[in-house]
Amino acid sequence: MLHAFDAVIVGSGGSGLYAALEAGRQSRTAVLSKLYPIRSHTGAAQGGISAALGNVEDDRPEWHAFDTVKGGDYLVDQQAARTMAEEAIQAVYDLEHWGLPFNRTADGRIDQRRFGGHTRNFGEAPVRRACYAADRTGHMILQTLYQQCIKNQVAFFDEFQVIDLILDQNQCSGVVAVELATGAIHSFAAKAVLFATGGFGRLFKVTSNAHANTGDGPAICARRGIPLEDMEFYQFHPTGIKGLGILISEAVRGEGGILRNRSGERFMERYSPNLVDLAPRDIVARSIMTELRAGNGIRGDRRIDDYVHLDATHLGAETLRTKLPDITSFCRTYLGIDPALAPIPVLPTAHYAMGGIPTDIHGRVLGDARGTVVDGLYAVGECACVSVHGANRLGTNSLLDLVVFGRRAGRHIAAYVKDAPPPRLGADAAAQASAWIARLTDGKPGPHGGHLADRMQTLMMQQVGIYRNAAAMRQALEGLRELHGRYRDVRVQDRSRAFNTDLLELIELGNLLDLSLITASAALTREESRGAHSREDFPDRDDVNWLKHSLAYLEQEQVRMDAKPVDVSVWEPKPRTY
Ligand SMILES: Cc1cc2nc3c(=O)[nH]c(=O)nc-3n(C[C@H](O)[C@H](O)[C@H](O)COP(=O)(O)OP(=O)(O)OC[C@H]3O[C@@H](n4cnc5c(N)ncnc54)[C@H](O)[C@@H]3O)c2cc1C
Repeated sequence: MLHAFDAVIVGSGGSGLYAALEAGRQSRTAVLSKLYPIRSHTGAAQGGISAALGNVEDDRPEWHAFDTVKGGDYLVDQQAARTMAEEAIQAVYDLEHWGLPFNRTADGRIDQRRFGGHTRNFGEAPVRRACYAADRTGHMILQTLYQQCIKNQVAFFDEFQVIDLILDQNQCSGVVAVELATGAIHSFAAKAVLFATGGFGRLFKVTSNAHANTGDGPAICARRGIPLEDMEFYQFHPTGIKGLGILISEAVRGEGGILRNRSGERFMERYSPNLVDLAPRDIVARSIMTELRAGNGIRGDRRIDDYVHLDATHLGAETLRTKLPDITSFCRTYLGIDPALAPIPVLPTAHYAMGGIPTDIHGRVLGDARGTVVDGLYAVGECACVSVHGANRLGTNSLLDLVVFGRRAGRHIAAYVKDAPPPRLGADAAAQASAWIARLTDGKPGPHGGHLADRMQTLMMQQVGIYRNAAAMRQALEGLRELHGRYRDVRVQDRSRAFNTDLLELIELGNLLDLSLITASAALTREESRGAHSREDFPDRDDVNWLKHSLAYLEQEQVRMDAKPVDVSVWEPKPRTY
């Protein structure tokens, strides 16, 4: 089946919906989403969205931009960070005017709370910068944007999973998707395509991410020859529920929660004397691991069961009820504890991809190290790399990235499609996608893919996780290549057409396997420690050799690495202490 639009947005999280809203005002825009839109992972975001509104205490966009750059260990493109911090204020007010129910100060303004790495006056002390709607900020953003899209007649194709991109000589002209309800393959011709497919925490065994976060957009782009940027930088959030990975928002520490080891010590005082529990996530996650390695974890039955405590007992039932209600109920449901009475057992959990599809500040995809724009192709949100998060994202900066750059990309698309050439789809546009599906579903018997996913996630978690070294990553890469080989023999067990989730999960596994190769190769190549990338064999940051973005090309299941400069035009890189 063939459809034609001016613009096709792939993904209906916060970034896709914002872009669709803007593009849809002036052009025929369709949103394709493999999930029902408001099930997107943005809806799980808890803690807040940052903007230097200065509602509770003095704050400035300049401080916000600086914190973002320093938080990202100076791998952030600095003008992009400035753009984000400056446009944050209007973006938050726009959401407010569309009805987003933010928590309020006593005098009726948007309330703000503390979050890791956000400081006053270039690092002096934590600042209240995160605007929030209890601990359901992402849910409220998603609902607000979805309502606006419906009101503005954006066309939705729900439960359509995109599996290929149509790209010819640097010109994008559409996508190919499978319709979940029927199994039919649809081609969408479009003058502009925007990927907003979210993150890929499912690379790892323990993650805060939803099952659908399988990196489809980046994987599809990589297979079509587009490089992926800074893929070695994957963030582990310090506080997932022990064993499960379900997120306990940084907002708990923002409201005053404290991390403690087995002797009850507030150990972050030793690692970050100034910001303590509100140091950036890479530092807190590493500090927890260091405590565990030193035997300071709270013992389970075996050493492997060690964990630390997040203590919120002193915050009081009223704060927990009004500002952290979902967290409180997660603790009751998954742990059987009341956080007002008992500390929460936590461990780091795979959380956020700093890297992704390279773009400029208009969301246009950049196809090589020289920054050549791929005509008609855009990316935004967690699947993209602008880069405003560098080597480590600060909490609340992702929701902000979605709305600021979602809006920018949507506006750029609206202008671009006015004069863009009509898309040309060859008769064989869907051929590659159809061949993939035909192989997975052909009559030959073959193994199921489930055990491959499990093995990949374990390799990534244990050998390409928080602490890394060359020997472990080489071994992981060998294992991942072998899994790649075995993936060729995997077959779908369910042969029905309607709602064949077995097929779609296998396609997602193919995407994750490609991204695992890229992530591990990029991590092995970068011989320094920076932000979330911690090499035991190269413990120091090395600006002389490595102050550059990596670019990874996937070529016949091999990864070729390249690099491009970082924009350091505002602040000179300095040692990063907190
Ligand atoms: C538990 C949790 C809490 C968080 N809390 C915060 C917070 O408080 N503050 C903050 O700033 N950040 C937070 N984050 C990070 C932030 O929420 C995410 O980075 C962000 O929401 C990602 O939004 P997105 O628009 O890029 O993608 P998503 O919201 O993940 O949406 C992806 C969309 O793409 C679609 N899609 C994917 N693949 C395909 C395909 N092949 N075909 C069609 N559609 C496809 C999906 O259906 C979905 O609609 C949190 C993340 C998690 C996991």
